Amino acid sequence: METKHLDNLRHSCAHLLAAAVLELWPHAKRTIGPAIENGFYYDFDFGETKISEADFPAIEKKMHELVRDWKSFERREVNRDEALTVFADNEYKKELIEEFAGEDKTLTLYQSGSYMDLCRGGHSPHPNNDLKHFTLLSVAGAYWRGSEKNKMLTRIYGTVFPSKTALEAYLVQQEEAKKRDHRKLGRELELFLLSQSVGAGFPLYMPKGFIVKRELERWIMAEKEARGYQFVWTPHVAKSALYKQSGHWQKYDAMMNPMKLEEDEYVVKPMNCPHHFQIYNERPRSYRELPLRLAENATVYRF
Ligand SMILES: [Zn+2]
Repeated sequence: METKHLDNLRHSCAHLLAAAVLELWPHAKRTIGPAIENGFYYDFDFGETKISEADFPAIEKKMHELVRDWKSFERREVNRDEALTVFADNEYKKELIEEFAGEDKTLTLYQSGSYMDLCRGGHSPHPNNDLKHFTLLSVAGAYWRGSEKNKMLTRIYGTVFPSKTALEAYLVQQEEAKKRDHRKLGRELELFLLSQSVGAGFPLYMPKGFIVKRELERWIMAEKEARGYQFVWTPHVAKSALYKQSGHWQKYDAMMNPMKLEEDEYVVKPMNCPHHFQIYNERPRSYRELPLRLAENATVYRF
C-alpha cells in the first residue's frame, strides 16, 4: 500500500478515535489527530478525568461500533464564523480556526457518520470497509502545540493496517523490538551505564561495553586503512573562529556554547573536518598525493 493511502487510513482512524472518545466522555475536548510513522494519535483535553490503557477496550469497542455507519467522509467548506459556531465550546479548535482564517486558508469540515471534525482532508474513501484492523497502543501527556507554557493534554496513540496479518506482524515486531531496547540490553549485559549524576544522554561504557567499542573501532580502522585512509587525532576543543571560517558556526551555533579562555573563545567540537582541513593545508599539496584520505575515530559534541 502506498504511503499516502496508509497515511489517509491512519488519519481516518484518528477521526474514529475522537468520535468514540466524545461518545464516551462528552465533556472531552479534541484538538488535533494526525497520522504519524507507524500509526496515528489524537490529543484530548479530558478535564479532570484520567484516561489510561485500561480504557482502551471500551474505546476500541465503541470505534468498531461507530465505523459501521461511516460510509464516507463528506467535505464541506465553511467560513470562519460558521467554523467558530461549530466549535463554540472548544478553545483549541477556535485557536486553530482563527489561525487558519488569518492565513487565508480554506476551512473545511469533514463528516463521517454523525461525527464532524475540522480537517484539511486526506481520508480513506470507504471507512466502513477500510477501518477494521486497528488497535490503541499507549497514552501519554503532550503539551498543546508542543509548548510547555500550554496545557498538558492526553495523547492517545494507535495504529491501523489494511489487513489483520499486517497489524499482527507489526505488533509482534514491536514486542521483539522491546526485548532488544538498547537501554534494557545495556543494563542487563553490563555494557553501559546511564547515570543521572552524569546526565541522561551520556553513556558510561563499562568493561564489557568497552570491549565492544574497542572491537568496533579496530574493525572500522582496518576497513578504512584497507581503503587508503590514514588516521589522525585532533583535540576536543578548538577556537570558535575555526568554525566561523568553515561555516559550521552558522549552522551549529545553537549547539556551540563558547568558553572564554584567556583572550580567545573556544568550543567543544561538533565536527572533525575543519581540523582535518588544517592538516591538509599544512603545506602545498601535489595532485600526486590525491586522493588524500584522513580519518578519525572521534567524539564530537552537539546539542
Ligand atoms: Zn481528517
